[in-house]
Amino acid sequence: MVEHFDVLIMGAGLSGIGAAHHLQKLCANKSYIILEQRERIGGTWDLFRYPGVRSDSDMLTMGYSFRPWTNPKAISSGDDIRDYITATARDEGIDRHIRFRHRIKRAAWSSQDAQWTVDAVRKSPDGRDEPVTLTCNFLFSCAGYYRYSAGYTPEFPKVGCFQGRVVHPQAWPEDLDYAGRRVVVIGSGATAVTLLPAMAKTAGHVTMLQRSPTYIVTLPEQDKIANWLRGVMPAMWAYKLSRWKNVALMIYIYQLAQHYPNFVKTGIVKKVREALGPGFDVATHFTPRYKPWEQRLCVVPDGDLFQAIRAGRASVVTGQIETFTEKGIRLKSGQELEADIVVTATGLVMQAFGGAELSVDGRSVDPGQTLAYKGVMMSGVPNLASVFGYINASWTLKADLICTYVCRLLNLMDKKGVRQVTPRNRGETAAAPFVENFSPGYIERALASWPKQGSKSPWRVYQNYIRDTISLKWSSVDNDALEFSNLPQGSSEPAPRELAEVAK
Ligand SMILES: Cc1cc2nc3c(=O)[nH]c(=O)nc-3n(C[C@H](O)[C@H](O)[C@H](O)COP(=O)(O)OP(=O)(O)OC[C@H]3O[C@@H](n4cnc5c(N)ncnc54)[C@H](O)[C@@H]3O)c2cc1C
Repeated sequence: MVEHFDVLIMGAGLSGIGAAHHLQKLCANKSYIILEQRERIGGTWDLFRYPGVRSDSDMLTMGYSFRPWTNPKAISSGDDIRDYITATARDEGIDRHIRFRHRIKRAAWSSQDAQWTVDAVRKSPDGRDEPVTLTCNFLFSCAGYYRYSAGYTPEFPKVGCFQGRVVHPQAWPEDLDYAGRRVVVIGSGATAVTLLPAMAKTAGHVTMLQRSPTYIVTLPEQDKIANWLRGVMPAMWAYKLSRWKNVALMIYIYQLAQHYPNFVKTGIVKKVREALGPGFDVATHFTPRYKPWEQRLCVVPDGDLFQAIRAGRASVVTGQIETFTEKGIRLKSGQELEADIVVTATGLVMQAFGGAELSVDGRSVDPGQTLAYKGVMMSGVPNLASVFGYINASWTLKADLICTYVCRLLNLMDKKGVRQVTPRNRGETAAAPFVENFSPGYIERALASWPKQGSKSPWRVYQNYIRDTISLKWSSVDNDALEFSNLPQGSSEPAPRELAEVAK
């Protein structure tokens, strides 16, 4: 007998636990299950274990709208974030709905039955893979946006010759002892700028080797206003006020960067110059060629990166790798960097729907051939929603809105007495990739296989909390682009290749 649930949530990370909270609160009549491929709650915040791992958003906006973040540190450690997610699941009884070690491989929609058949693999305690099949009416993907099995590492010439150890931050070895060692961190993103000061506390020396510089902004680790508010009013009020303060600040800075990029660039670089003192080559190492926010800004709490550099425990080299050698890395400039350990902080491999294959009425879905509906669903694919958060603000701000939206949609379906809802693209063509004006390598490598955006609402994917609040929370769910149906449509159901057909 195949088990059936109203809603099946893929993933028990920040988004999956948030989704379960919203379902319990807004759709209390729905049965649900969470399938999680790993053994613990937390997703990203359980997987990544490299030294210093932390948020680079403030937790006042990265926390859930419904659960105050009360830790005085607004930029918080991975452990604290994992504890917060785990405590939410425990306190709300969500943990009882999670099946761990279940990796979803396939989901097939049948219009005839108005349900998904989900095939997963369960890892048994003795390491065997056992097939598990479940059915659900609505599939909610909260599987994040990258491949869990391995991060991205470019092909480095002669890496095999290197006598030291090469590690990727996504698979940090528990036994790695770097005290007193020479470390080279390849990369210049959030992970590299976190690792540098954290490892520099005990390493012999840490060098950040970057191909090109990134914008780095110092933020206070503690938000003084939020901490003060918490002392003078109930925690939830203080949290809401601090959250709106930070949302407003983020929108302001992002808009400023969009409209006056040179002004913002000059301001950021000036602050770096002040932090590093005279004589440091800020033009080479901390002045990016791109405009602010074309790639994510990196945040450093209380300027810890700059302090490590000033103390002489860490340094930055900007150049291109020619080859690995036995002793380290040689650059195209001829410079040699000797190392005992090389950390490849070279990024992620983006992956949609946790790598699961999707099909609708027997035809496989190529997400790259669909249009994103409100950034939540895909044209031609019924009863499926997924969470993809902001790239210019905290992930959870959007995740919360999407979860509320999905609950409103489910409730509307009940009210209408229908079992199927399908976004229908009736003439809109692809106008932009899923993520626009944002070009880090890991995003560019993957965009072809992600849904596209149209030119107007509801086919736009906003990076703006206010617009999304209007679109997902305040606007009517009923919409010409959503088809509500009950009829078994079988093979006459239009295939989810609507975009290709419209584009012809
Ligand atoms: C190092 C790092 C730092 C970050 N820092 C920030 C930050 O400061 N601010 C910010 O806003 N965002 C940040 N992000 C983005 C971050 O991923 C999100 O903030 C948030 O953790 C996403 O939560 P999620 O639950 O959507 O996805 P995840 O945390 O990725 O969780 C997804 C869950 O789904 C499970 N899963 C995946 N595929 C399957 C499958 N096929 N079957 C079953 N289960 C599956 C995974 O095991 C995992 O538990 C960071 C990301 C990384 C990698």
